[in-house]
Amino acid sequence: MRQGFEIVIVGGGITGLTLAASLVAMKHAGALSITLLDAAPRPSFSVVDDVALRVSAIATGSAQLLDAVGAWQHVLDSRASAYERMCVWDENDTPTSGTALNFDAAEFAVPQLGFIVENLLLQDALLRRLDSADATLDFSSPIRSLRQVGRRYRVELEDGRKLLADLVVGADGARSFVRSAVGIETRKWPYGQAAFVTHLMPEHAHEATAWQRFRADGPLGILPLADGRVSVVWSTTPETAGRALKADDAELGRMLSVASDYALGELTVSGPRGAFPLGAQHAQHYVLPGIALVGDAAHAIHPLAGQGANLGLQDAAALAAVLESALADGLHPGDRPVLRRYERARKGANATMLHFMTGLNRLFTTDSRLVAELRTAGMRLFNHSGPIRERAVKAALGVR
Ligand SMILES: Cc1cc2nc3c(=O)[nH]c(=O)nc-3n(C[C@H](O)[C@H](O)[C@H](O)COP(=O)(O)OP(=O)(O)OC[C@H]3O[C@@H](n4cnc5c(N)ncnc54)[C@H](O)[C@@H]3O)c2cc1C
Repeated sequence: MRQGFEIVIVGGGITGLTLAASLVAMKHAGALSITLLDAAPRPSFSVVDDVALRVSAIATGSAQLLDAVGAWQHVLDSRASAYERMCVWDENDTPTSGTALNFDAAEFAVPQLGFIVENLLLQDALLRRLDSADATLDFSSPIRSLRQVGRRYRVELEDGRKLLADLVVGADGARSFVRSAVGIETRKWPYGQAAFVTHLMPEHAHEATAWQRFRADGPLGILPLADGRVSVVWSTTPETAGRALKADDAELGRMLSVASDYALGELTVSGPRGAFPLGAQHAQHYVLPGIALVGDAAHAIHPLAGQGANLGLQDAAALAAVLESALADGLHPGDRPVLRRYERARKGANATMLHFMTGLNRLFTTDSRLVAELRTAGMRLFNHSGPIRERAVKAALGVR
């Protein structure tokens, strides 16, 4: 086996860090020299700080992936919020109506459906794992250029340093520098929506339930936090998101109590707020010789089912598995046939999820009466569909 392949991972978000942690944990890690670069400063997390604005619903399958790389226990020891139930309803109905979709962990013989975790905590847990591993972590290090030199890539940093890589992994998010530097095009599906995010204290207990109300302007997700508060992700028009950003706390509480149809009673604003533009995009290719894209650099999807970070975690695990078996077979990790195995493993699955989320968002934001009636009938049918319902929930849980 040839020694000393240089792997440069660009992006220290959840996906890039998970890939690095997976690579250092593998049997053939000694054959790799791993550098992770991020343009931003190293993220810091402390349990004494208030819950950060960005949280993600982490599926059980993703928690298992994080556990396999030694990062999950720290998340559990800090402040993950397990959710045991999910309730999804149409704005014309109520959470207790016959068309509402209710899922309970007990029904699927699992202790919880997933966990609500701060993105910062996930990064912190992965960084703690990497701090004791043989990998170079370089924060506050934006890339200036990326050029192919023979079979390798030369990565030049803003501070003038240069690295030569056998494989560059673009884990640098939806506006990936790596993706555009190597000329990989994306297909885009604009949603004309923005996601408004904040934390609130509900009048009624959240009951460890993830709530989602499908409204004509977009879905409103209400995620349970461990301290009794909820984190709201409201996909709405950019104008409404703009109004929500500017409203005072009392007005914002009213807007969100109405938008949630008082499912948890009055909501009182209790945290920071922010808004993110929404749109789906998918890279035409995930790989080129010496290049691989993972996470949001490869695909960005609607947050309505909380799957974006979960897909990135699965990409990271799949790429690490492909590289491990290539090294075991004495193959070069930057070879196209090797990387194509990763692309084949993930691109179709990600496309299915992306189009499903885009379709679901359209299905609920349509103003057609006929579609609304078919939708209601479909939800009722889904509730009685046994195996289909079970398959859908297992897919959301990230387990087979
Ligand atoms: C409102 C909202 C709610 C969401 N909720 C959920 C949820 O509940 N569950 C879920 O699974 N997903 C959720 N998502 C999606 C999820 O947040 C993303 O899919 C996930 O964070 C993507 O992680 P990533 O590491 O691939 O990219 P990013 O988090 O974007 O990380 C990219 C990293 O690359 C770095 N970088 C960028 N450019 C450069 C450069 N030129 N040089 C060096 N470094 C660079 C950045 O600093 C950053 O650290 C949500 C998204 C939104 C908008």
